Order: sequence, then structure tokens, then C-alpha cells
Amino acid sequence: MAEILDGRKIASAMREDIRRETERLAGRGVRPGLAVILVGEDPASVSYVTAKEKALEEAGMFSLDRRLPESAAEEELIRLVEECNADPRVDGILVQLPLPKHINEERVLLSIHPSKDADGFHPFNLGKLMLGQDSFYPCTPYGIIKLLAAAGVGTRGRHVVIVGRSPTVGKPLANLLLGKGEGGDATVTVCHSATDGLARHTRQADILIAAAGKAGLITADMVKPGALVIDVGVNRIPDASKKKGFRLRGDTDFEGLQSVASKITPVPGGVGPMTITMLLYNTLKAAKARGRQSGQ
Ligand code: NAP
Repeated sequence: MAEILDGRKIASAMREDIRRETERLAGRGVRPGLAVILVGEDPASVSYVTAKEKALEEAGMFSLDRRLPESAAEEELIRLVEECNADPRVDGILVQLPLPKHINEERVLLSIHPSKDADGFHPFNLGKLMLGQDSFYPCTPYGIIKLLAAAGVGTRGRHVVIVGRSPTVGKPLANLLLGKGEGGDATVTVCHSATDGLARHTRQADILIAAAGKAGLITADMVKPGALVIDVGVNRIPDASKKKGFRLRGDTDFEGLQSVASKITPVPGGVGPMTITMLLYNTLKAAKARGRQSGQ
């Protein structure tokens, strides 16, 4: 049986450290703060934003909740981001994605000041990541790196295969793993929907990371015996027996992989809790920089 990598437990220990540091910083007059901007009422986005605000509160951080209607104009959203850029209480700004179709996501993300880019999606920060420089790293990939480290899994010299090349998960994760030093030094293969013979690649992985958004895509025959599997996927499967009418499933056949993988993350309770934790981590990091600037 594969060992379950408990993201909730690892995230909870990290959040306790973050809470203590937040308390210390707040005691010196710098309370870390995050502006959370939501456009529209998409149920999944509302639930993500609610979870993030709860985590901020538990960490003792200041949270500025800003909601705009689905019909809001792009300029209105950019004005709001600019207000947050100028607000000294706000260390980080999060614009919940996806945005309504009539809003240009790229323009909005560019309007966030790179020093307040808690999600790490600004091209300036992504560029620094690629160059191996310190910046705000996107929360899900960074959370995976922290999860591996907390579980005592080294990446140096290991072959990591990532299924998915999105700018928010696959690509930044590949770059973090390629970086020099702790959490990096891996040999990385990135697969996508045009990859020929996906299983041929996944079977080479010492560490297999599934981030395709396709329920159950990775089956036991696609995994090398003893490989470690990180399941990033969050797929809603209709289920009338559940109160919400759906259940969550990852990108792997979790049950089927039990007999072949050495370790595996569950869905939910694996990567998800780490993602929110890294949002707190990035907000704290930005607040520390504000503290240094103001000499506190
Ligand atoms: P995305 O933007 O839709 O990207 C999916 C990637 O997977 C694309 O690169 C796509 O290839 C590739 N892909 C799709 N089907 C494939 C297949 N059959 N074979 C090989 N590659 C395939 O999704 P995302 O935002 O990266 O998210 C991926 C999953 O992770 C989703 O389920 C999402 O909900 C989940 N997620 C979870 C968290 C968390 O905190 N737990 C955070 C972020 C995302 P192309 O580029 O060729 O289209």
C-alpha cells in the first residue's frame, strides 16, 4: 500500500509557524494584509475565496474583501487593483481567477504591482523564477516543493514527469524543479495534450506530478513501481449522494495506484491545503519586506 502524503498535516504545521511570525510582526506594527478581489459569483470561485479569507483570519492577517459584479468593466477592476497597490495596509493582492470573458486577464495581472503579487502570476515574478532568482512563486507549484521537502523527499537527480504545462501550475513547477539547490536539481519532463505516448513518459518518472484537470487520467499501468505521485487535479464528479451534488476526484486512479506507488497525495487533502498556505507565506514575505523598508 502506498503511503499517503497528508497535505493537511504538513500545511497545518506551516500555518502555525506563519501565524506565530505574523503575531510577532503585528506586534511591531506591521500586520500582514491581503486584498482578495472577486468578480462575479461563480460557486467554485466563491468557495475558494471563502477558504482563503478564513485562512487569513486564522493566521491573524488583515484581509480586505472586495467584490465586483459579473458585469464590472475591466477598467473598474484595474482601478480597484491600483487602489490596493497604493493601500499601505495591503501587502498582497489576489484577483480570483478565472475572470469573466469580457475582461482581459493578462492586463489585470499586469496591473498588480510585482511587490504585491501574492499569487506570483505577474510576468516580472515568473521571469525571476525562470532565472532562478528570488521572487513570489505561484502558490500551487511552490506548495508542492514545500510538501516534498516536508515529507523528506529529495529532488536532486530525480526524474520528475509533470503532466500539464499551464502557466499557473506545470510551467512554473518545471522551472522550480530545474532550479539549483534544495527543492530543485531535478531532471524534468513536461507532458501536455499533444504529447505522443503519454504512458511511455510517465512510466519513466521517479516523481510523477499529475496536473491535467482530467479525472482519473493516470492509471496504475502508467506508473513505475515505487514512484512517488503528486495529484494536483481537482475535478468535480456529479454525485447525488453528496449535499453539494458532487464529489472531488484527482487526476489519478487513487485506488488503483495504491499497489504501485510508494507515496501518493490524496484529493482532497493533498496539494490543495498547501496552495492556500503558500498564499499566506507570500503575504507574510511581502509584509516582512514592508517592515524592513519602514525600519520596523
Ligand atoms: P489547465 O490550465 O487546464 O491545464 C491543463 C494542462 O494539462 C494543459 O497543459 C493541458 O495540455 C494538459 N492536459 C490536459 N489533458 C491532457 C491529457 N489527456 N494528456 C496530457 N496532458 C493533458 O489546468 P491547471 O490550471 O493547470 O490545473 C490543472 C488541474 O489542477 C485542475 O484539475 C485544477 O483544478 C487543479 N488545480 C488544483 C490546485 C490546488 O490547489 N489543488 C491549484 C491549481 C489547479 P495543453 O496545454 O496542450 O492544453
